[in-house]
Amino acid sequence: MLKRVIAILLVVIFVFGVFPGLISWADYLKKEPAYQFVVDGEVWFTIADRKALEEIITDYQRQFLAKVDPHAEIKKISFVQDVQVVPTEVRKDQLDSIEYARERIYAVENEAVEITIKKGDNFWNLARAYNITVADLEILNPDVDPHRIYPGEKLVVSPFNPVLDVLIELENTVVETVPFTIQYQRNNNMFAHEKQIIRSGVEGEKEVVYHITLRNGYQDTLEAIKETVLKEPVNAIVRIGTRTTVVRGGRVNYGVVQGKRISSAYGWRIHPITGQRRFHDGLDIAANHGNAVYAYTDGRVIEAGWNGGYGNCILIDHGNGLRTRYAHLSRIDVRVGQQVKVGQRIGAVGSTGNSTGPHLHFEVIKNGKTQNPLNYL
Ligand SMILES: [Zn+2]
Repeated sequence: MLKRVIAILLVVIFVFGVFPGLISWADYLKKEPAYQFVVDGEVWFTIADRKALEEIITDYQRQFLAKVDPHAEIKKISFVQDVQVVPTEVRKDQLDSIEYARERIYAVENEAVEITIKKGDNFWNLARAYNITVADLEILNPDVDPHRIYPGEKLVVSPFNPVLDVLIELENTVVETVPFTIQYQRNNNMFAHEKQIIRSGVEGEKEVVYHITLRNGYQDTLEAIKETVLKEPVNAIVRIGTRTTVVRGGRVNYGVVQGKRISSAYGWRIHPITGQRRFHDGLDIAANHGNAVYAYTDGRVIEAGWNGGYGNCILIDHGNGLRTRYAHLSRIDVRVGQQVKVGQRIGAVGSTGNSTGPHLHFEVIKNGKTQNPLNYL
């Protein structure tokens, strides 16, 4: 009797205990198709849902296109690191969750460092204070016009740096102006400060194709790969006197300052990455800090002092609706109401206000509207 009971018990234990155990054990050992996310040879995680993984990767990479011109053509999106999605087979308990996968992909090494612009800040001083170059400051803030920054606005001074770096290759086509040149005709019957415009210059237009690479959304390389002139510029012809009364010396004489080169022309400029349009209402002449700035022609000083983004600034009225402005000065040598003569020293080159380095921002205003200063120099 007892033996029978034991035998039945054993059968019951086997059927309801061990057998299901064997089934779940087999189930446990069973491998399923999965995908390993491998970065530089290291397996970061393994998940079953390939489509979900691809969506995470695409979303992650696309976040770096937020500030890019929607007209730009995306050529390629990739990772700096060697990233591979490798098919494999694993047990269920070896799979990672989608949440974990997302966490690993979105991991950050350094968050971006943002500062708040204070009164008197400019790109030049900020770049020095945060130990980066003005060019890098512009790259970190492509949507900020260095000439138009205001107290309270935010500026990135150290880039967002994720663990997984994204490279984006794109091409963008923008229309840019072609500056005109000035042809001088020398005339010995006129004084050196006298000039006569024989023909005004007109800027041309060109289409420029830029090849751009972005690293984590920031410009890495930017190169003009093709330029097509749409409209040729018309060069200006100016007759100038050669009878010298004022000696200004130096390399390039722009009439109002001894400069190195024109660092920013007058007119519209389209940012090749963001596609934003900006208007520059003057001519920027890069020059050494402290170089003398001269009055364009005879006139009366109507403004002399601090003027927001212009920094130390002078405005001269020359009569007949013509005014000239001189901005970012390091010093001002005239006062409001003072009469000035052509070629008279009025101040010195600086980098005050919204300036990216020592230069003279020279503006010509005719009947209240800014003009291309190249037509006046
Ligand atoms: Zn300027």
